[in-house]
Parts: sequence; C-alpha cells; structure tokens
Amino acid sequence: MSFTLHGLPISGGIAIGQARLISQATLEVSHLVIAPRMVEKEVARFEAAMERVRTEFDAMKSSLEKSPADMHAFIDLHRMILDDPELSEIPKQIIRERRCNAEWAIVQQMRLLVEQFDQIDDVYLRERGYDVRQAVERVVRELAGRPVASRLKGIKGEHLIVVAHDLSPADVMAFRNHGFASFVTDVGGATSHTAILARGMGIPAVLGLHDARRLIRDGEALIIDGTRGVVIVDPDRRVLDEYELRKTEFELERSKLKRLKTVRSTTLDKIKIDLLANIEGPEDVETVLECGADGIGLFRTEFICLGRGDMPSEDEQFEAYRKTVKGMEGRPVVIRTFDLGNDKLLHGDDASSERRRENPALGLRSVRLLLSEPKVFLAQLRAILRASKYGKVKILIPMFSHAFQVDQTLALLEQAKSSLRGEKIAFDESVEIGGMIEVPAAALALGVFLRRLDFLSIGTNDLIQYTLAINRADEQVASLYDPLHPAVMMLLSHILGSGEKAGVPVSMCGEMAGDPSFTRLLLGLGLRQFSMFPARIPAVKQRVKQSDISEIEPIARRIARLDESAKIMEHVEKLNAL
Ligand code: PEP
Ligand code: MG
Repeated sequence: MSFTLHGLPISGGIAIGQARLISQATLEVSHLVIAPRMVEKEVARFEAAMERVRTEFDAMKSSLEKSPADMHAFIDLHRMILDDPELSEIPKQIIRERRCNAEWAIVQQMRLLVEQFDQIDDVYLRERGYDVRQAVERVVRELAGRPVASRLKGIKGEHLIVVAHDLSPADVMAFRNHGFASFVTDVGGATSHTAILARGMGIPAVLGLHDARRLIRDGEALIIDGTRGVVIVDPDRRVLDEYELRKTEFELERSKLKRLKTVRSTTLDKIKIDLLANIEGPEDVETVLECGADGIGLFRTEFICLGRGDMPSEDEQFEAYRKTVKGMEGRPVVIRTFDLGNDKLLHGDDASSERRRENPALGLRSVRLLLSEPKVFLAQLRAILRASKYGKVKILIPMFSHAFQVDQTLALLEQAKSSLRGEKIAFDESVEIGGMIEVPAAALALGVFLRRLDFLSIGTNDLIQYTLAINRADEQVASLYDPLHPAVMMLLSHILGSGEKAGVPVSMCGEMAGDPSFTRLLLGLGLRQFSMFPARIPAVKQRVKQSDISEIEPIARRIARLDESAKIMEHVEKLNAL
C-alpha cells in the first residue's frame, strides 16, 4: 500500500528507485567483564582500533584532494573528536577500572558526551552530538571487525536509495563510489554535516523522517522528492509516471542551466543585474567562480570563528580575507563583520549562560555584540581594511537598528584606518561601508541609514523572522514563515523605493534572493543586486534573462499594495507565468 512520509528537504532533485535498508544497532554493544590479565590487552585492542580509524581518516583525506572543503572539514572534526582525551583516554581508564570490553567503555563515554550536547539550546552545536556518535561508531565497527566500508559492500546501483536511521558524512562520501540515487534518514538536522555534504554533492536527500527505517521495507519502490522533503513509498503507476516526467524535466533544466555560466545576467530590456554569492570562507571561492557569480555579496565571517572556541587573530582573519579577495580577481567582495550571538556562538562553555537566556535572537548579537567588544570589532575592521588592498572590498555591518550604532561603527572604522596609516600599512582609502537591514525598525526608519552609509543589504531571513515574530530555526512555526506576507512586501517595497530615491544601492542577501520564484517580483520592486548560495545563481540568472522589467514593474508595485498573502501568492504566480 502506498504512503507518504514528510521530512526536511535537504538537497533538491528527484530520485526513483528501490529502498536499501542500512542496519543500525552498531552502538548497542554488550557489556563484557574482562579477566584481570586481559585488561592491558583490551586497552591495546582499543588503541589499535583508534589508530586504524585515524589512518583511515588520513587515507580518506588524501584521496579527496580535490573535494569540497566541507569534506575535509568534517574529517578534521571527526579526527579532533577522537583525539580529545574524553574519547582517547577516558575509555582506557574505564577499561582498567571496571575491567570491561573496549566497545562498552567507549560507548558509555560517548553517551555521557552526547547527553551534554543534547542539553545545548543552540541547534548547530547540538547537532555536533551526531558527529560524536558517528566518530565513535567508526571505532566500534573497527573493534567489531566490521569497518565502515563493509556497510556498503556489494551494494551498487544508480536505482538504489539508502534508508538509514542515521548516516555519517563518511557514509555519504562512500556513496560516490557506489552510485546511489539518493538517501533518507530518520534523524539529522538541516545544518548537520551530512546535510551539507548532500547539498554539495547534488544527491537528492530527505532527513528527519523519524520512522522511515521502521516503516520502509528492503526492496520497496520509493520516490524521493528532495526539493519538497517528501518520500513516497510504493507509489502507483500514475504517481510514478508523473515523477518520471518531473525528474526528466529537473535534469534537463540542470544541464541547461550549467550552460549559463558565462552568459551575462541582463534582462530582456537590457538591464544588468548583479548575481553575487554568499560564502562562509575562502575555500568557497572556487565554487563561486564555477557558478559564474559577479562577485561575493555576503561573506559570513563568523563561520571562520565557529567551532574553534576562540577568536581568530587579526592576522589569521587578514589571511582568510586576503585569500578570498585575491581569489575573486578584482570582482567585488562584501565582507560582513561577525554576526555572532543568537544561534552562532563562539565559546561552547562561556556561552552557555548566554544560550540559556530567553529569546537570544533579541539579545546581544551581531553589531550589538561587536560594539560591546570594541577590541574585537577593531581587529576585524583592521583585518578587512588590510585585505582591501588586494581587490574590491566592501564592509557590511549586520543588524543595525539605531543611528548611534552606525556612528559608533564609523568612528571605530576611522580609528582602524588611522592606526593603519600610523603603521604605514596600505589599504583602500575609499572602501565602502554598508549596513544590513534585517530589523523592521531599521527598515521603517531607513533615513538614518541611507544618510550615513554607502550601501544597504536586505537580510530577509532575519527581517521576516523579526517582522512576523517567527523563530527561523523552529520547525514548529516554520509554516508561518511567510516571505509573501503583506507586511514583508510593504517593508521590501519601502526599502528598495527609498534606496532608489536616495541614490543608495540596495542589495539582498537573504534566502529570498536565491529563490527563482521571487526573482521577478524583486526585479519589479527595484532590486538589482541579488546575493545567494552559489548553486542557485544559474536558476536565478535564467529567470532574469526571461524578464522584462518595464513589463513587470507596474505589476510588482500593485502586488506590494495587496493586503492578503494568498492574493499576493496568486499574483506572483501569474507574474512568473508571463
Ligand atoms: C539574513 O538574515 O537574511 C542574512 C543574510 O543573514 P544570516 O542568514 O546570516 O542571519
Ligand atoms: Mg541575518
């Protein structure tokens, strides 16, 4: 009987194939008592297994020289987890003190650690608990003589869809050699490394299905719609035909889009639209260039701090910014100062009280945090200024809501510049400074920002969150997160219209900018610079090339005056069908 499961849409595309269930249960290990004379042997067995896993990580890394930086990052992370004395030393103490087997010792220790991760409010950090489990799982498999690679042995085929309770990034990487069509899992969040890798590799994937492993049988026919987060089990002929068609269309579209890389993004009425990329670090530059971006519209610099527990020094930052700017070969690079706080926290421990504070999204984050730590802010401004010598750098400050925040920032920027001049360090004297408009108060009282800054960038992710009072990370209210809400339309139209009148360029770097179904609406409202996840650029470019601004402008303006989401959606659909 056919049924449908819903999970998190992690990586777009459609896969049709047969379920291949992957066994779990590796962490359910027996507790054995060891004879006193065998204890040191057991410790040695534990050490040998750890060593084999480390060697395996090294081999994996060197075989992946040209792979995305994400893959290297996760291998480093799992290695670091295993090298931590909590997992490399304490299990040995447990073996000695309790005279138990190595599997049981490391799993007990892992449970303690995972429990601590489970108590963390921050979603990103909580999900690192999965990494601990996955790293330990590798060791347990080694101890049991069933290394990870054997999990996929003998399974091959482009029509196979892996159904698992959980998958580690290593398993996902192994898929490349086995030609799987897709994978689905019961657990895992949208920011897990597994999800990040699936996106990077372009495999359709749905995570967070809760019960897929229990409800789906081996060999059953499956349709995976990675774009919508839907899994259809045992579909009937009619549904299969429909999805075969959608799949062909999707693949055709993707290959057509690839050809757009070198094509200029101009509208039918010859208006140049800048399509820029959002990045997390210098290692993304290669992908950005592959996607044909006009530059970088948002460098989320806080990602170079996450997961390390301390702030990168001015020199370390300078290296990361310089590498990025040089890599972009003269194209503009907008470097956003640290947007830490809320869900992006630096210190695992120190931040716990901060994390427990209610409503962290309304707390000491972004520019508020930077202004409360002027030394940190100053060091970052100096590092960005130093990198400005190597290309076209612009500085972007997140989450302004008050005029005095801009004034204090500009004063610090001046201080950074004069200290560099004093040290005879070169930088671009005309470097532009802009602010993100992501708080409704800033959007409404826009004049103070237009007068003080060189450019603005709309952060729709936060602007929508704060306008609609929807926590963007909470799946329970996700259905209320509505980019087409009339209030959002009013704010966008006001920001873009005021920017145009004042002659201040306004770009957009929230997720809305990378969704082709909003491209025409935004073009019609006056947006000329879109910044997005690099892989989205070809689809948005295609939509730009099919649009005539003189035709869509009056329609978009009328849409922005409507006062019901459903009507707005209906008109946007008509606009897209023109
Ligand atoms: C936004 O809020 O839209 C934005 C681009 O910033 P971030 O997603 O990093 O908060
Ligand atoms: Mg934001």
